[in-house]
Amino acid sequence: MTKPLLVVKNLQKRFLLGRAWFQEPTYVHAVNGVNVTVSEGETLGIVGESGCGKSTLGRCILRLIEPSEGEIIFQGSDIRAYGKSDMQNIRRNMQMVFQNPFDTLNPKLTIQHILTEPLIAHRIPKEQRQPLIEETIEIVGLSKRHLARYAHEFSGGQRQRIGIARALMLRPKLIIADEPVSALDVSIQSQILNLLQDLQEQFSLTYLFISHDLSVVEHIADRVAVMYLGEVIELAKKEELFQRPLHPYAQSLLSAIPVSDPDEKRERIILTGDLPSPSNPPTGCKFHPRCWACMDKCKKEPPALKEVEGRMVACYLY
Ligand code: SF4
Repeated sequence: MTKPLLVVKNLQKRFLLGRAWFQEPTYVHAVNGVNVTVSEGETLGIVGESGCGKSTLGRCILRLIEPSEGEIIFQGSDIRAYGKSDMQNIRRNMQMVFQNPFDTLNPKLTIQHILTEPLIAHRIPKEQRQPLIEETIEIVGLSKRHLARYAHEFSGGQRQRIGIARALMLRPKLIIADEPVSALDVSIQSQILNLLQDLQEQFSLTYLFISHDLSVVEHIADRVAVMYLGEVIELAKKEELFQRPLHPYAQSLLSAIPVSDPDEKRERIILTGDLPSPSNPPTGCKFHPRCWACMDKCKKEPPALKEVEGRMVACYLY
């Protein structure tokens, strides 16, 4: 078994919502006690509806947002204890690819300049910079002539290739990809997913792949964690989850994926009600107001995430 590169223990992120005179402050629990392990070379998919806390989880792991509690053990060390300069050093090995690269590529800078910035920040010797930039831009499917251009001169797919090149510049071990293909056309999505898979093989990368799109996650992930209102409610190998999801919420999510085989019958499970507000979550199992299998105890005590048939599930049905 490959060793874990990243171990997240009881990670929590609370955002202060308000504090009235003489009253307890109120918080939104965006991430609530998440435990996940990602092994070297693995792709762990994180899925769930928007607002379930998956992007906050990704940002907390990189400490782009400071977690409220929990441990983030990367390469054997708890990086939550790291100061600014240690964090700057470790970020060399942990990079992020964002959903919309146009928002994160400075429109006033050329691609050459954008790709040089991380090399300067991490004190890569000057003579090594240009060969690295030229090698990386070609690895992501662009060419040296693109380096003199600005972000607005590229298509969405090309911009995401530049975003990936920037994440790759320092040859990291872990890439957290937050909805990296959701802003792209379907035909371009598969090109970017194939590129990410090729890069994983070439550079032995480990991915935490965040997406609301289950078909995309099915394409790329080895294991999948399903999140609901800040918590992981099922974590399983991709094949097991997609063939037979156990948690009622995971069942409803997967029932919505279109099937390519016209003979295959899949009954769509339509959930009643909206995702509850994370500032005022339901008691007990947070899914109980929308669950068709809800029992009395589901409304009182939250079910623990426990091992069921070789996977982790948080539900009283098992
Ligand atoms: Fe449904 Fe109860 Fe399971 Fe929650 S614990 S998913 S309410 S059956």
